[in-house]
Amino acid sequence: MTVKSVLASKGHMVVSMTPNTSLKEAVDTLAKHKIGALVVCADDHSIEGIISERDIVRLIAEEGSSAFDHNLSQVMTRNVRVCHEEHTINEVMQIMTKHRFRHMPVEKDKKLIGIISIGDVVKARIEQVEKEADNIRQYIAMA
Ligand code: AMP
Repeated sequence: MTVKSVLASKGHMVVSMTPNTSLKEAVDTLAKHKIGALVVCADDHSIEGIISERDIVRLIAEEGSSAFDHNLSQVMTRNVRVCHEEHTINEVMQIMTKHRFRHMPVEKDKKLIGIISIGDVVKARIEQVEKEADNIRQYIAMA
């Protein structure tokens, strides 16, 4: 299963914000959409960073409520690891596990075109395993 096939079923919608957005607005957006991370993009949809709920918890622990005064450009992770439509879900899972994050923006022609979360990876893996089990059951039934 590839990133392309997962995006074909879940869609290409990604919640993104510009680097000059305040952390307060980002927190409100995460809560509104019930998501765990935001991709930070320039107006041309090129990826500039990512901010996740873990970054925000750490900032609040360090700075208290003044953390909310920052802009995303001051607090986002800049070295974003992206995947492409051709990546397999197994490859994405390995990268997420190795680097200990749960979100991977999907990039095409240097633009953001989707996002794969750990939830999408788990769902895809379960579907894959169920399909394999069905095939084995069918094979045994025919024997
Ligand atoms: P997460 O597990 O996605 O909540 O993120 C954990 C940490 O990794 C946070 O500091 C995020 O900013 C960072 N992070 C999340 N996704 C990525 C990514 N695709 N590339 C680089 N860093 C990331």
